[in-house]
Amino acid sequence: MAEIFQHRARKRFGQNFLHDAGVIDRILRAISPKSGQRLLEIGPGQGALTEGLVNSDAQLDVIELDNDLIPLLKLRFGLKTNFNLHHGDAMKFDFTELNAQSHELRVVGNLPYNISTPLIFHLLSNAHLIKDMHFMLQKEVVERLAAQPGTNDWGRLSIMVQYHCRVEHLFNVGPGAFNPPPKVDSAIVRLIPHEHLPHPAKDHKLLEVVVREAFNQRRKTLRNTLKKLLPVEAIIAADVDPSLRPEQLDLAAFVRLADQLAMRPSVTAE
Ligand code: SAM
Repeated sequence: MAEIFQHRARKRFGQNFLHDAGVIDRILRAISPKSGQRLLEIGPGQGALTEGLVNSDAQLDVIELDNDLIPLLKLRFGLKTNFNLHHGDAMKFDFTELNAQSHELRVVGNLPYNISTPLIFHLLSNAHLIKDMHFMLQKEVVERLAAQPGTNDWGRLSIMVQYHCRVEHLFNVGPGAFNPPPKVDSAIVRLIPHEHLPHPAKDHKLLEVVVREAFNQRRKTLRNTLKKLLPVEAIIAADVDPSLRPEQLDLAAFVRLADQLAMRPSVTAE
């Protein structure tokens, strides 16, 4: 097949194709796809992960943006009855089109690094449809996703993703597993959307507002960073010490701050 389709990896599509059979196998074992499950692969590329996913007999939908890869994917997998190819942009994809049941979809992908964070947020807007997600990402992004309060990595990404999901940093992958090799280390992360949010906010959008504002200047105290949003009394009413810095607060404390904001007159998330 390689002779028919000599595909040159495109930087603008974030193309770093997996070629290390040991790494591919380890990822597939972490995902552990089963017959009858609903899987969605984002960016199948030349099919490095797709092959194992389709052979598991799971029902597999894939979304690929690059026109040039579509014939190759059709040739490799087009005859499989459990394979369904969507040609388009995962960032614009309407996941409700898949008619998945609540908490049914298993989403996987060696994601294009340039769009990985907005894509995760796009997926989280449909978190109720998702059972779990397994992604290859830049290692430093995985460290931020899985971070704990009080560390340098704890920030907007950790909080907004941990609001929706349990996060597990599974293992790291070096640049040599890809063709072409990326300039950074990578890692596999598992995200499992909570069936019931452990710390539900009155208004999720206001949580985003508080977290964004707080981490705009992460070295400053909350009294300073939140002064446009909340008076010191409201911070204290949320049971938060205004002299702390944002990275010292856990998710529950940010939710209490957002709920204080929700109680203030004429506050909108715009
Ligand atoms: N899964 C393959 C592998 O592991 O070898 C390819 C991974 S490569 C890092 C990312 C893939 O995502 C490429 O095939 C690229 O064309 C595709 N892609 C990039 N942006 C995309 C988007 N917005 N929607 C869907 N696919 C996209």
